[in-house]
Amino acid sequence: MKVAGPSGRKTVDGHPAPRRIVLLGPPGAGKGTQAQLLSSKFAIPRYATGDMLRAAVAKGTELGLKARGFMDKGLLVPDDLVIAITAEALRSDDAVPGFILDGFPRSIGQAEALDRIARVDSVVNIAVPGSVIKARLGGRRSCPKCGTVFHVENKPSAKGDLCDQCGTALVLRNDDKAEVIEQRLRTYMETTAPLLDFYQKRKLLKEIDGTGDLNEVFVRLLQVLVVR
Ligand code: AMP
Repeated sequence: MKVAGPSGRKTVDGHPAPRRIVLLGPPGAGKGTQAQLLSSKFAIPRYATGDMLRAAVAKGTELGLKARGFMDKGLLVPDDLVIAITAEALRSDDAVPGFILDGFPRSIGQAEALDRIARVDSVVNIAVPGSVIKARLGGRRSCPKCGTVFHVENKPSAKGDLCDQCGTALVLRNDDKAEVIEQRLRTYMETTAPLLDFYQKRKLLKEIDGTGDLNEVFVRLLQVLVVR
């Protein structure tokens, strides 16, 4: 007999799966990569506020124009803007079976807003030391079209400088430049790290070691998420 998880949904290999997941961790912890893997495994959507904001910047929408200056400096976009786009995403029919939030919440104000918008089953902090983060972000190359993220050493594109998913030329994001990385880490420590305590108090927080091979990290993530 199969045992139901918090949502009663099963992964493809039959394990019960939580369905409303928040991934926390400093910039470069691998949230995006792990969220994509989870999204495929559990067949639930991934909502990445960073990707949504970059898409708005690329399209030149009003949101993009407001967000760009903050993003280029490694600062957080104001809460009201990111809360609005996340609330809209979570209202969509796609989010009914569940969702993975990648990059939201990033402040206590956002976490309190999320409490009002949706119930969360699991919050996982992907822990990575500062020295590893700097190496990861500096070597990161991103596809400006489809959002796929590569790394010059750990996860190179099969097509060299082009995205192996859509063929677009890869770029070093403005905010992955050395001077901006420092500011993003400061922002994380000051504004986002307090969320660990916030979710610990709600008994939702789990922590995994985010160093090493991405497949090993994924195994650790499944171990804390999936009730066997
Ligand atoms: P990311 O791709 O998640 O590293 O996000 C890139 C940038 O988008 C961040 O450095 C922020 O400027 C902005 N951003 C993404 N998510 C949020 C959020 N939840 N709150 C405020 N700013 C955000």
